[in-house]
Amino acid sequence: MAMINCPECGKEISDKTLSCPNCGYPLNSNENYNISYQEYFVKKKTPGKGFGIAGMVLGIIGVVYSTMLLLSTFSLLMTESVGVADELFKSGMIGMGVYMMIFGILALTFGCVSRSRGYKKGQSTAAVALGIITVVFCLAIIMVSALA
Ligand SMILES: [Zn+2]
Repeated sequence: MAMINCPECGKEISDKTLSCPNCGYPLNSNENYNISYQEYFVKKKTPGKGFGIAGMVLGIIGVVYSTMLLLSTFSLLMTESVGVADELFKSGMIGMGVYMMIFGILALTFGCVSRSRGYKKGQSTAAVALGIITVVFCLAIIMVSALA
């Protein structure tokens, strides 16, 4: 068994292997060659591979911050300590709600893109779910602040 260097990543690998164990580059011609070759390049060329994880991270940030924002909106309104700063407080909360909603919409979009391309179903679904929760929480923040 001879050792060759992978043409894609340069790592030393067996010449009998069908695809590089390091980077997945398809090496030897056989009946699977065309399928694996296509899969490799579809995965490599199609954007969206990192969208699932990016969406999930944005979704986690969105849910954490929008939860804190929602709780502080409620607690501040309940203590009635807002007083003369009412309008400023409300517009501040609405602004922050809109700002956090961007995270939710991005998480939702990235999750949908990733799901539609078949990448990391778990991460993609989590990104979609977290994005929806963030958007709902932000709508609640905006509505509570606007109607208060
Ligand atoms: Zn390789």
